[in-house]
Parts: sequence; structure tokens; C-alpha cells
Amino acid sequence: MRSHARVVIVGGGVMGVGLLYHLALEGWNELVLIEKGELTSGSTWHAAGQCPHFNGSLNISKVHLYGTQLYPQLGELTGHAVSWHPCGGLRLVRTEEELRWAKHVYGISRLAGYEAHLIGPAEIRKLHPYLETFGIKAAFLTLTDGHVAPADVTHAMAAGARQRGAEICRRTRVTGIRQLPGGEWEVATEAGNIVCEHVVNSAGSYCAVVGAWTGLNVPISNLLHHYVITEPLQELIDLKPELPVVRDPYSNSYLREEGNGVLVGPYETATAHACWAGAPPPWNFESELVAPELERLMPWLEKASERLPLFARAGVKSVISGAITHTPDGVYLSGPAPGLRNYWMHCGASIGIAQGAGAGKYLAQWMVHGQAEISMREFDPRRFGDWATREYTATTAIEDYQHMYYCYAPGEQHPVGRGLRKSTLYDALAAQGAQFAQIFGWERPRWYGTAGQSERFSWARSNWWEPVKEEALAVRERVGLMDLSTFSKYEVRGADACAFLDRICPNRLPRQDGRIVLTHLLTADGFIESEITVTRLAPDHFYLLSAAVAQLHDKDQLELRKRPGERVCIADLTDAYGVLVLAGPAAREILATLACADLSNASFPWLSARETEVAGVAGVRLLRVNYVGELGWELHVPMGQMPTVYRALMSAGKAHGIRLFGTYAMNSLRMEKAYRGWGSELTAEVTLVEAGMERFIDYEKDFIGRAGTIRSRDGGPRTLLAYLEVDAEDADCLGSEPVYCGGSLAGVTTSGAFGFAVKKSLAFAYLEPRLATAGVELTVLVRGEERAARVIDQPLWDRNNERLRA
Ligand SMILES: Cc1cc2nc3c(=O)[nH]c(=O)nc-3n(C[C@H](O)[C@H](O)[C@H](O)COP(=O)(O)OP(=O)(O)OC[C@H]3O[C@@H](n4cnc5c(N)ncnc54)[C@H](O)[C@@H]3O)c2cc1C
Repeated sequence: MRSHARVVIVGGGVMGVGLLYHLALEGWNELVLIEKGELTSGSTWHAAGQCPHFNGSLNISKVHLYGTQLYPQLGELTGHAVSWHPCGGLRLVRTEEELRWAKHVYGISRLAGYEAHLIGPAEIRKLHPYLETFGIKAAFLTLTDGHVAPADVTHAMAAGARQRGAEICRRTRVTGIRQLPGGEWEVATEAGNIVCEHVVNSAGSYCAVVGAWTGLNVPISNLLHHYVITEPLQELIDLKPELPVVRDPYSNSYLREEGNGVLVGPYETATAHACWAGAPPPWNFESELVAPELERLMPWLEKASERLPLFARAGVKSVISGAITHTPDGVYLSGPAPGLRNYWMHCGASIGIAQGAGAGKYLAQWMVHGQAEISMREFDPRRFGDWATREYTATTAIEDYQHMYYCYAPGEQHPVGRGLRKSTLYDALAAQGAQFAQIFGWERPRWYGTAGQSERFSWARSNWWEPVKEEALAVRERVGLMDLSTFSKYEVRGADACAFLDRICPNRLPRQDGRIVLTHLLTADGFIESEITVTRLAPDHFYLLSAAVAQLHDKDQLELRKRPGERVCIADLTDAYGVLVLAGPAAREILATLACADLSNASFPWLSARETEVAGVAGVRLLRVNYVGELGWELHVPMGQMPTVYRALMSAGKAHGIRLFGTYAMNSLRMEKAYRGWGSELTAEVTLVEAGMERFIDYEKDFIGRAGTIRSRDGGPRTLLAYLEVDAEDADCLGSEPVYCGGSLAGVTTSGAFGFAVKKSLAFAYLEPRLATAGVELTVLVRGEERAARVIDQPLWDRNNERLRA
């Protein structure tokens, strides 16, 4: 084995090999993959090999589509035969809500570019004459789905990587990973040490153990999964072409043909459990099955027999049972490990055969080019923090497994693993009917209901509609109060703090103490990485705010941009401060009764800040800024003192009709102001020019990403963000809906909401630049229904910012 490499990948399953192949295709050399057994000897060898397209996420759909396009060609590309079965797929749909979900996914199929149809029971029976269609309303038909032998694709990609110079060391266990003082990684193996620039944890069921060597908390659980294969059946021997793979929420199973028999794989619910009693597999576990537990499957196999009576007619030939890695949200981990330069995670896949090629392609792009062509936010391992404890991961991962065929409605979340991070107002807000959502471990109010009420999750407007309308109008007409403690908060201090921020931010930094700017961090090529609000507290002391889910991501963006020797100290203050947003025409009058500060416009203008005492609480940071577009302040309060300030504000606000509001109302209000959101409008797929954010760029100075930003401006943007008014009926845009102009696909929505003050359904969409002009008529496919829409001037509410500067 060589002693130096550019990249060392630990693990030779479909994920590790998929990455190796794509790094080689990208032209990188000195690539080494180390596998303790044989390639595929972990989970990959015994997977059922199904590769579906349908998915509720546009980015994941792109990952799937790449695999189904690559696998049929892989034999020819690599000279290693691949048995691709293009049999198609039927995802059965039982309820009205599932149908709305399927229609949303249909919209995603238009954007991703795969063929899909929604068909009724009669057509289902034509395609699958042996299937019983009781309780079925429709099916989501994907003609280009297939299944493949997992070992074929893995070995073919390995062959392709070797042909481009990559090395694969089999039968060599990695025993440790440590970072050397110079930043390189030293990978210890049974065959000696190897030093590399980048290391990748692709260790499948062992990824948490491998991660722990460098102090990483890797949130995966190894869950036991089975499928059974019957003896051949004459009906299937006689039948051509092969039946489509069926995914059936009634039996919670996939059902397909295999060797002229039937293959059934159930995702059992109550009896689902982890392998090896929740511990990692023993190191000598290789190409083995986990002991099957058929008894547990019986109820599901019986249901599968009702759906496909043919299945009950044949004897079981084999039972395959093995470990599948599941993460708390069911999406694999692919991207930088938190806090570590050039340590990449690429593991946690629960449908790794379908995803291995695409996952490898996009991570290779990220490693080689500093970003991928799709947004990697959903896959970024830094979406989980230390709050994702072992217990949390164990309960949520099991639920993810149980819910493989469950259609989560928008906003619906795991009911388990809750209450991990709470502001000190949690109980007080719960008593007011707060409907909480989990975000980066935090419980954050979405809206306020009446006692005992809970959200009816739906693809249409639901029981939150009227309360949210009242919340939003209270902010516009009187005053609202929101607990937004979930903000990620950092302090940047030191002699070089100002120069450092100036170098990494495209916007001009505040020139005076107590001033605020909104700015971004860009990739080297000028694409949007982060959005942060910077407040200058002193010439060498800045207070930074960013999105809740970005806490680890943005900490890395700051830390990893520091130059050696730069005198900058970055501290994470997220848990130290709670945040209350007081917004609305009466905000000044209310706050003036409690704050020891002159709140007049002259002494406390828009985009300024100061530290003062509020309601007897010292050290409250008041920031005159908000995301709802009204007169108001954010109060950053020492977390322990939040209840005092909250009670005082509620009491002082009573005479003004103060109302608590949550993130649903905030979303509606920010849409009325056309404020972009990080992660929806602002992603690494676009530049600030394309996002219509040029006013936040100071072209006169140098900053990371400047050349790319200028290229985007001068070369003409590839796309432009447009603000749409949509003739919605009972459902507003969510994002990832296709937009058409004159019958042709013209763009994609990124988010939307109903604006209660402007009485319009609003959306953002990236469009071909020539169409992003007020007055252009469009059609948006909202839950599969065509809705007329038009581009409008931004924003609809308070165009001249008179209210927020009042
Ligand atoms: C019964 C069953 C059916 C399935 N059906 C499907 C399906 O139909 N479609 C689908 O898409 N997915 C399916 N899956 C899931 C799929 O198998 C996994 O998602 C996928 O194989 C994960 O690939 P991986 O590379 O992450 O992990 P693995 O295949 O487990 O690879 C990890 C590798 O890392 C090696 N390794 C670990 N630690 C070290 C170390 N320290 N040193 C060296 N090497 C190390 C291991 O030996 C192993 O080979 C199924 C899984 C099971 C169990």
C-alpha cells in the first residue's frame, strides 16, 4: 500500500465505491479505497437492488435519477457486466392525502426529468394482473424504475475507478484516523499507515465507530431488514415482460419478481429493531446474514399475500436478513464532518443501491469543485448536532424505517425524539397553545391554537389557517411577539476580526459601533453558502446571527475561512441568548415602557443595535431589524432571563392587543416583503446576482467569491429569482413545483405562502432570465393542479420600507 494519497475512502460498499468512481471521473488521482473484507461484504452484497425514482425531494430525485441512468450503461462504460432490470415501478396510493402527495411528487418528476404517470386501479391491473387493488385509489407509475444486482454495480464502478488509476486495498482494516499537525490525515491500517489530504468515512454499519475515532457523533442506527424469495411460479415463468416493482403501504412492503419467484420485503412496524442490540457489528462480520426473525414478519407477509395472492402459493426459497443504516431523517450523510477540514462523511444510506451512484457523483463534485451542481443541504452531515444523541437516533431511525411507505404531509414530523432543546419560554408558550416544530433539536412555535388543539397535517390549508391569519394581521395592524431563540449566534472578536469579516463577506461591514448589515458567505466561485446578520458591537467585536439549522455549518464557514495567524476568536453563543421578536406598529410604544434606551428614530434607527436594560434585565441586546417587515426590535436576552422580559412585554402589550406568533405567520409576512430564505431561495446553486441580492454586494472591495459574482453579473445570470402571485385555491406553493410558460417548463418554485395582508398567494421561483419580468403570465403545478400565476414587482408590502423605518 502506498504511504501517501490525495483521498483515502474507508469502506468498499456501494457508497464508498460510488464516490471513488466519481472522484476518478472528475480527474482526481492518488485515490485509495480501503476495505476490511471484500468489496460489498457489508450491507451491499445482499440488498434487493431496487432503484426507484419517486421521492418527495427534488434533490434526492436527482440522485436517484442519475443512478437509474448510469446503471444500464455501466457495463459498457467499464467493461464489467451489470444486470439492469428495467421493470418499472408502481407506488400504490390509498387515501386522498396520499394522492395529493403523489401529485406533488408528479410535479417533482417533471423537474427532475423522469417519466411518471398517475394511474387508476384498472390500469394497475393491466400492468400487474396478479395484484389485488382493494383500498387503492391510484398508483404512481414510473416506467424507468428497475432493479440491479448490487454487487454488479459496485464491482463495475470499482473497475471504472481502477481504469482511471484508483487503488483498492481489500482485506485491510482501518484501525484509526487522526489529524496531523499540518492538517493532513493519517489513516492507520493493518497494512501500515497512509497519509492523505482528504479522508472519507464510508464505513456503512461501522461509520459511527470510525467517526468516534475523531470525536464525531454519527447519528445512524443499524436496523434489521428482511426480504423473502419464493420458489419459481409457473405464472411468472410464462409471463413477459417482468412485472413492475410494487410498493404497497398496506403491507408496508415491496413486492417484485425474482428468478421467476416473488420477492417480498416488509418494513415491519411495532417489531422493528436494531441489529446487534444497537451496538456496531463485530469487526469480523463479513458477507454474513444477521439471524433472520421471520416470526416478526408474519403479519406483514400475510398482508402481502392479500395484496399478491400468488406470493402465498409458493414455498419460500430463501430469506435474506441484514443491517440497513438509517439516519433520524432517512437521508444519508454526505459532506464535511462538523469542525474538521477535509474529513468527509459518506454513509448512513438506507437505499444505498438506488443512491450510491448519484451520491458519489455529487459528493465528488463538492470535494473537487468546492460545491455540487445540486444543493447538498439535505445531505450535509452538519444538519445534526450533539443534540442528536444515541437515544434520539435510536428512536427516530426506527421510526424512519417503520415509515418507509408513510407520506409525511408538509410540516409533519416524527412524534418521537422531541423536546431536546427548549428556550426558557417553552412552558409559558405551550400554555398559550404553541404548536411546536423541531428544528435543529429546538422546539420552535409554528402557530398558536386553542387549548388541546393540535395541527391537522395536510397537503392543503388546514386548521392552522385562521389562527395564522390572525397572527399575521396582528403583526401588520397592532403588534406581535415571537420566540426566535433558535437563531444561531456567534461572536467574532479579536484584532483581525474586522479585516477577517471584510475579506469573507461581500457586503460592506458596518462602519460604526451599533450598526447592522445583512451579508452572505460565498463559495470560491461566488455561489451562496450562508446568510448572516452582522452587528458591530465594537471595532474588534461583532455579533453574528444565522439560521437555526446552520449552527454547525456556519460555524465551520467562519472557522475554516480563518487564515493561519489571523487574530480572530469565534464563539458560539446560541444557547446563551434567547431571542424575542417584537414587531408591529405599536412595538416602539410597548418597548419604550420597559427599555432604558431612547427608541426614537433619530437615536435608534433601522439597522442599529445597542445593549441596554429591559424590564430590569441587564445586558439585553436590542437589534432594530426583523424578517417580517414592520417597525420592531429583536431582543437578545440572556437565556435565563427570558421569562422576565417575556412577561413584561406581554403585560405592556396587552392594551395594544399583542399576539404571539409563530413561524407560519413569519413565513407569510416575509413573503409579503419578498424576503428570501436561506436554504430555499439562497442556496449554493445560485449567485447573489441570480437571487436578486446585488444590493448586498460591495463590488469595490475584495471578498471570497468576488470573481464568480462578477462573472455571473457580466456573463449574464443563468436564471433569475422572480416573485409570483399565484391563483391558488386551497393550497399554496411549498417549493419544488414546476413553473411553465406557454406550455414549456420555465422554472421551479423555491417557497411560497399566502400573504394575509395583501390577500394573495405568493411564491418565489427561479425562471429563465427573460421571463423574470413583471407581468409575465405563467402556470404553476400546485399538487398536480395547474394554477395561473404571474410575475409581480417586489415586494407587495411596504415597497418603500416606510413602515419598518417608521
Ligand atoms: C436486506 C436488505 C435489502 C436491501 N434492499 C435495498 C434495495 O432494494 N435498494 C436499495 O437501494 N438499498 C437496499 N438496501 C440498503 C443497501 O444495502 C444499503 O443502503 C447500502 O448497501 C449501504 O452501502 P454502504 O456502502 O453505505 O455500506 P456497506 O455496504 O455496509 O459498506 C461499508 C463497507 O465498509 C467496510 N468497513 C467498515 N469499517 C471498515 C474499516 N474500519 N476498515 C475497512 N473497511 C471497513 C465494511 O466492511 C463494508 O464493506 C438493502 C439492505 C438490506 C440489508
